[in-house]
Amino acid sequence: MVMSKIQKNCEVCKELFIPKTVNSVYCSKNCSDAAYRQRKAQKKKEEQRKALADRIPDDRLYLSVPEAIILFGVAKSTLYRLVRQGRIPAINLGTRLVRIERKAVERMFPIQEETPATGKKSTVKLYRLEPEDCYTIGEIAQKFGISDSSVYKHIRKFSIPIRQIGKYVYAPKTEIDNIYDPK
Ligand SMILES: [Zn+2]
Repeated sequence: MVMSKIQKNCEVCKELFIPKTVNSVYCSKNCSDAAYRQRKAQKKKEEQRKALADRIPDDRLYLSVPEAIILFGVAKSTLYRLVRQGRIPAINLGTRLVRIERKAVERMFPIQEETPATGKKSTVKLYRLEPEDCYTIGEIAQKFGISDSSVYKHIRKFSIPIRQIGKYVYAPKTEIDNIYDPK
């Protein structure tokens, strides 16, 4: 009985081939060149992603969809689905102005990156966004005699974190009082 040589599937074209060495994974120079180009393109893409990610401030609590994709490598459709399902708190400030809660995305898609070994503690300001520590947008409008749209405008202007629960949008009392009723 003749033993047939062990065949492998080429990692690029998926065709069966007889490997020259145990380490061969490509059937031809063409396929190995294609794989090299692919790796190079991927590396470049990853470098571009990192450069963009570096420009997003660490203390930004709410992210746009493109920012979340850059930071967490999550597919757009996945993000929108999680937002629709209410698993990621989000606020819709208008067309293409969905802002999603960074912490919630972080919890679901932890960044695999190594953290710099500087031992530097993060200085991110933390807010309590529990409903009892917050006003709803309607409450703010009523309390300070302004329109809902003005409230949203100021929230954006001062980068105040917000949280949506059901149909209500909450903002921390401390931050809101700071704007409208500074002591
Ligand atoms: Zn091949």
